[in-house]
Amino acid sequence: MARYGMIIDINKCVGCYNCFLTCREEFAGNEYPGYTAAQPMSGQNWIRVIEKERGKYPRVKVTYMPVTCMHCENATCIKMAKDGAVYRRSDGIVIIDPVKAKGQKEIVQTCPYRVIEWNEEAQLPQKCILCAHLLDQGEKVPRCVESCPSGALIFGDMDDPKSEISRLMASAEALHPEYDMEERVKYVGLPGKFIAGTVVYGDVDECAGNVKVTLSGNGKDKTTQTNEFGDFEFGGLPDNTDYMVKVEAKNYSSRQMHANTITDAYLGVITLSK
Ligand code: SF4
Repeated sequence: MARYGMIIDINKCVGCYNCFLTCREEFAGNEYPGYTAAQPMSGQNWIRVIEKERGKYPRVKVTYMPVTCMHCENATCIKMAKDGAVYRRSDGIVIIDPVKAKGQKEIVQTCPYRVIEWNEEAQLPQKCILCAHLLDQGEKVPRCVESCPSGALIFGDMDDPKSEISRLMASAEALHPEYDMEERVKYVGLPGKFIAGTVVYGDVDECAGNVKVTLSGNGKDKTTQTNEFGDFEFGGLPDNTDYMVKVEAKNYSSRQMHANTITDAYLGVITLSK
């Protein structure tokens, strides 16, 4: 028996929303007895793409982050539902029983990832089933994975040592490790914070290219050079950490400033004087 899992590679997600659209196409108005009641024609997203804008003008980045049920090993929805209304199949897929869960609106609140939706008409909590109805008919992957043009969604048997997913799972991260849920849907490429800035020579009012910039903090120093436009960036930094940024150019006084990664930090234009 396979033990299914999915990786979401944030570096590859281009925000095309194909996963969301195909999921809607598969489930909206379509009932799969034993797996799920039909999803309403509007108002539910079993996979949603969160668009995260980071930094501030002029250094803004957009990250797309698909979020769905994490099919947790340590699932609070299973523990808190009454009458075994949420259960895990032997392949690891977590299913909300469309008969037993009827009327159990409180199941919606059991998931810290907030991926369970309430179907008012059917009086049912509902969520992603990883297309278990198709896998049981011999399909290899859920519809969202099949429709992703950039290969950002990788699905497979985590117990198959030759599978891509078993290789990637070793370095993948949970979206919220602090929930301690042993998620089977994990991420690679989750963005760290960045500190960036633009350096100019004040006396000639020109971009300062090839200038040395040093980032100190978190136990070690990192060094980079500005590009031809005077821009520099340190990426992949941990959250809420204090740093000092030092900018040094020959024949100019060096500049030093404090930065914190509570948010992505654009330090603005840093002017060097003689
Ligand atoms: Fe349950 Fe939420 Fe985990 Fe999905 S992500 S298995 S709904 S606790």
